[in-house]
Amino acid sequence: MKRREFLTVAAGYAGLVVARAQVAPPPHPAVAAAAGPFALPPLPYADHQLEPYISARTLSFHYGKHHKTYVDNLNKFTAGTDLAALPLEDVVQKTAGVVEKAAVFNNAAQVWNHTFFWKSMKPGGGGQPQGKLLAQLEKDFGGFDAFRKTFIETGLAQFGSGWVWLVTEGGALKVVKTANADTPLVHGQKPLLTCDVWEHAYYLDYQNRRKDFVEAFMDNLANWTFAAAQL
Ligand code: MN
Repeated sequence: MKRREFLTVAAGYAGLVVARAQVAPPPHPAVAAAAGPFALPPLPYADHQLEPYISARTLSFHYGKHHKTYVDNLNKFTAGTDLAALPLEDVVQKTAGVVEKAAVFNNAAQVWNHTFFWKSMKPGGGGQPQGKLLAQLEKDFGGFDAFRKTFIETGLAQFGSGWVWLVTEGGALKVVKTANADTPLVHGQKPLLTCDVWEHAYYLDYQNRRKDFVEAFMDNLANWTFAAAQL
């Protein structure tokens, strides 16, 4: 290739790279396709896009290591069983409370919970929802601020590892917490939004200050568009 041609081609590639970066975030670089029927869904944003509230380092470990390991373990523990042919939600439901399937449940539920958690956040999120969801929060909690306070306090009240959720149950909105891998899916509740309060979700960025993390989630990350779509 002549030098002038090379420069033209190189400039073309540079233009493509710039255009692509503006349109869509690059896929997470650390994650290979999982071997088995259960896959690690792509993150809805790039690692750095939730900064400064969640660092790229935290998100990279949380998604690329923790979430991926749950997927890998689920594939390993269901290999050669009937469970491997089922949708993820069915695996969660069928193994809940079954003592000898605890390892399958823990990994299946953690895969589901984390996928839901990533969708529960967005760059530029937080603040108040609008429309029907806001009206229902006001009705069931007495106001958005009262809901916000309940969500944060419930996240703090979860002793050890777990999750805080906004769910619907019997037509009403509720805030609930679950321990470890437990999930509202198996308690007759429909999740709208969740925040992961396991230490791995915030320790690199907030150390032991879980309250600061849950407040940052509520005020700067919560994806109310996603939550409203679950109603
Ligand atoms: Mn987690």
